[in-house]
Amino acid sequence: MRIGIDLGGTKIEGLALADDGRELARRRIAAPRGDYGDTIHTVVHLVADLEGETQQRGSVGIGIPGAISPATGLIKNANSTWLNGRPLDRDLALALDRPVRLANDANCFALSEATDGAAAGAAVVFGVIIGTGTGGGLVIGGRVVTGANAIAGEWGHNPLPAPRDDERPGPPCYCGRSGCIETFLSGPALARDYVAHGGDDVPARDVAGRADAGDARATACLERYEHRFARAIASVINVVDPDVIVLGGGLSNLRCLYERVPQLWTAHVFSDRVDTKLVPAKYGDASGVRGAAWLWNEGTPLALQ
Ligand SMILES: [Zn+2]
Repeated sequence: MRIGIDLGGTKIEGLALADDGRELARRRIAAPRGDYGDTIHTVVHLVADLEGETQQRGSVGIGIPGAISPATGLIKNANSTWLNGRPLDRDLALALDRPVRLANDANCFALSEATDGAAAGAAVVFGVIIGTGTGGGLVIGGRVVTGANAIAGEWGHNPLPAPRDDERPGPPCYCGRSGCIETFLSGPALARDYVAHGGDDVPARDVAGRADAGDARATACLERYEHRFARAIASVINVVDPDVIVLGGGLSNLRCLYERVPQLWTAHVFSDRVDTKLVPAKYGDASGVRGAAWLWNEGTPLALQ
């Protein structure tokens, strides 16, 4: 049995998977915000709960909103800031009395979809999460690619490629730069773009509904979004040439993307034809926790994250 834990900022989700990927048990509890010790205790209780219900002992994989710094072995880049600077993997291994594997949550998403999701069996898979931010993860041959700096797949903080005059320098980003892909493609960015062009202040998901209802401003906003998405993802295709690109997060529900973006990206990809598939996630929000469980996938040993 494989146990996956998704360590979110507001909730912690636990899932027990059978060898064939069937869900055996699932739990979701509020995250103890701001308290590292409580976070460890909560994970231990969650694992005990799942093992009590299934009457089996499981391996434990954990998805985190950050990464383990290869240089220090400590958590970095977590927006759950109380995890930063802590040896979370070692503390959890001690508390759970077994080895644990940790990976960035977007990497877990990509691993889930590459293992038995929308990209099952594909050799090179790029997973994209577009919601409040713009994350990404790369899986090659069934293994998460972590990278020398543990940032592989983090395309959201590259500058938007081929910016038009009105896209320069671009909105300021929390990372300290301006015009990052995330400042154009996140949900809040889409909503902001709609307002900037005379639309109402509504969430990104409502912009799509308004376009369907015939709102010309909303339609134009989505068209700008599709063009920007195509330019941004084309640069990923040019570097790693994925077989499948899987979208997750709130904006993966924009159905127009799957038809329009592949039509638009050909202009930016260095190839006479582009056979890359762009598909929605099979497991949706559950992919993070499933991928965490799949970090222990016998037969395809994954590098310790
Ligand atoms: Zn940025």
